[in-house]
Amino acid sequence: MNPNFLQTPIPYLKGVGPNRADILKAELGIETYRDLLHLFPNRYLDKTQYYKIAQLQPSGADVQVVGKIIHLKTVEQKRGKRLVATFVDEMGQMELVWFRGHKWIRENLKINEPYVVFGRVSKYGSIFSMPHPEMELLSEHQKGVKVAMQPIYPSTEKLSAKGITNRVVGKMMQQLFLESKGRFLESLPKTILEELRLISKSEALFNIHFPKNQELLAKAQFRLKFEELFFVQLQLISKKLVRKQKIKGLPFEAVGENFTSFFENHLPFELTDAQKRVIKEIRGDLGSNAQMNRLLQGDVGSGKTIVALMCMLLAMDNGFQACLMAPTEILAAQHYNSLKELLGKMDVKIALLTGSTKKSARTLLHNQLENGNLNILVGTHAVLEDKVQFKNLGLAIVDEQHRFGVAQRSKLWHKGSPPQSSDGEDGGAIPPHILVMTATPIPRTLAMSLYGDLDVSVIDELPPGRKPVKTVHRYDANRLKVFRFIKDEIKKGRQIYIVYPLIQESEALDYKDLMDGYESIAREFPMPEYQISIVHGKMKPADKDYEMDRFVKGETQIMVATTVIEVGVNVPNASVMIIESAERFGLSQLHQLRGRVGRGAEQSFCILMTGHKLSEDAKTRLQTMVQTNDGFEIAEVDLKLRGPGDLMGTQQSGLLTLKIADIVKDNQILKTARYHAIQLLKEDPRLEKEENRPVRIAYAKMMQNKTIWNYIS
Ligand code: ADP
Ligand code: MG
Repeated sequence: MNPNFLQTPIPYLKGVGPNRADILKAELGIETYRDLLHLFPNRYLDKTQYYKIAQLQPSGADVQVVGKIIHLKTVEQKRGKRLVATFVDEMGQMELVWFRGHKWIRENLKINEPYVVFGRVSKYGSIFSMPHPEMELLSEHQKGVKVAMQPIYPSTEKLSAKGITNRVVGKMMQQLFLESKGRFLESLPKTILEELRLISKSEALFNIHFPKNQELLAKAQFRLKFEELFFVQLQLISKKLVRKQKIKGLPFEAVGENFTSFFENHLPFELTDAQKRVIKEIRGDLGSNAQMNRLLQGDVGSGKTIVALMCMLLAMDNGFQACLMAPTEILAAQHYNSLKELLGKMDVKIALLTGSTKKSARTLLHNQLENGNLNILVGTHAVLEDKVQFKNLGLAIVDEQHRFGVAQRSKLWHKGSPPQSSDGEDGGAIPPHILVMTATPIPRTLAMSLYGDLDVSVIDELPPGRKPVKTVHRYDANRLKVFRFIKDEIKKGRQIYIVYPLIQESEALDYKDLMDGYESIAREFPMPEYQISIVHGKMKPADKDYEMDRFVKGETQIMVATTVIEVGVNVPNASVMIIESAERFGLSQLHQLRGRVGRGAEQSFCILMTGHKLSEDAKTRLQTMVQTNDGFEIAEVDLKLRGPGDLMGTQQSGLLTLKIADIVKDNQILKTARYHAIQLLKEDPRLEKEENRPVRIAYAKMMQNKTIWNYIS
């Protein structure tokens, strides 16, 4: 076969032509033979059976019947006409019905010729009827490639309107196989094919389009899903390898004064085993000659802050600066305060930089950063501004990663220190080590695909003595009981969060909900006995901080807020989280919010308030919250409910461009593919071995065609 055969533009295929080509391109993005070949069916209909009309059941299933049309008539209806054909076999009689395309059908249908018709039957009175059947002359049907399972291809309204029906696509596919003789280049090495007993590429492609039976279809699907995931993993992993070899890291060889002194004299509690393990993993990276790119996952409250601090102290010990970025001013300020507190009297110069830092303070800060008088900078996006220049940034930590875009993350790379020596190959700066921290647990499967090129550490243990938050679901009708409960808790000296949804498209409405809620709460909890804080997105940052601050100091007992408090805020005395219109929140958001309580020694509660009308998905979300506190379990449910495409940040990852595999359902295959990709690259990092030739060629082709996604970061 001509090696460029699959690059052939689609109009060259017999039966396509320029008009159809335009539609195929516009509707399905098909431009070449390869694109068509990789248009995989959505589902299959079993055409192994031929039914007699007398055997038909009103089951709504798609069935296949052999017979002939003996009569055609047009029936006038209130809304347009319908064309009705009387269709008979030896024993019975039924109707075929068309509501559109009468002229074409009338001109093309042959009376009294045997047809195979296929479609969904329903029963009207005593007669079966099949609307818009697929039809093929029996003589043609017998000549065609024998497909037992009928593939159903993705379609659009426009495609069908322009006559590119499923049957037409099937015919194009047949033509493609005819021209290619069904022979396609193998892309996997023999070893893997044998070990996993995969069928060959040609066999798989044939059976995905023209399955001979269920078993071969299943084998074809497995083989193609494996292949797809294998190449994605191959790309991610080789990228990681290249980075480790090519991108020099700043060596943090010493464990010095700051780290040791903190560890010995300032640690306010014993680290959990998980924290110790993670610090060790990070130290391993920092001590190597490669740049660290690590994702640190840990559920809310698992203690990521102290891990971040200890890493920053390591940077200092090696003569470098460090920075910690958070997505909001409140969070940045909170980080700054807790770091200061943890550091106590240690001689570490630390500063806070946010959008509201005053100009004079800012200028001073810029200077201190540039001349190296500042060790640690904590801040918001403001840190990324061009004016902010470090003397020698060695470690950048990003908290709550999903709030930052990819572009912002990559900006950090270029805040590295100036070249240390003159032999720098590209003359550029050595990028700082990067640690990305997230409290949104990412299911392992997704992490593998999304962050397959990052190293991952997990804090899978909460500090001791935490009581799991008790979660309940209450209907709005029981609000008075909930109020009573709040009063009891306040009497015990606790503080309460009441959170309202804020979804952008209905911001005005949400704001009204919040204000209405606030008023009724203010009525129920009158001053001076009760003090209420309110925080929402329309407030000035200074006012927000003021209100937040009153709550943190315990001057107010109730905090009425929108989701601005979602991430990171730490008020250990707050023990009740009430979430209004809880059905409107996503699972990960609910889990984040719940994480705001349960931080102190007291038993904490999370109350999910909703009306009575709930969708099935909403019910599942609420039940999941009531049943478990495990962030990873919740993330798995979330992934199943929403699919990978909707999970935060995954849109840009290109996960959606997978053609046949499904990250959620094909989890097992993904693991296998990843394992084999790692093995292969371990033994043959540059794909030089003869046995890996097929992989090398296929990989190069894919990169050239950009069929593997353009990956993040
Ligand atoms: P997160 O992972 O959500 O950022 P934090 O770092 O804010 O969690 O820690 C949550 C709380 O737990 C803080 O009050 C912190 O001081 C405390 N904490 C962290 N690690 C431990 C530990 N090993 N033992 C006891 N308390 C800890
Ligand atoms: Mg945190």
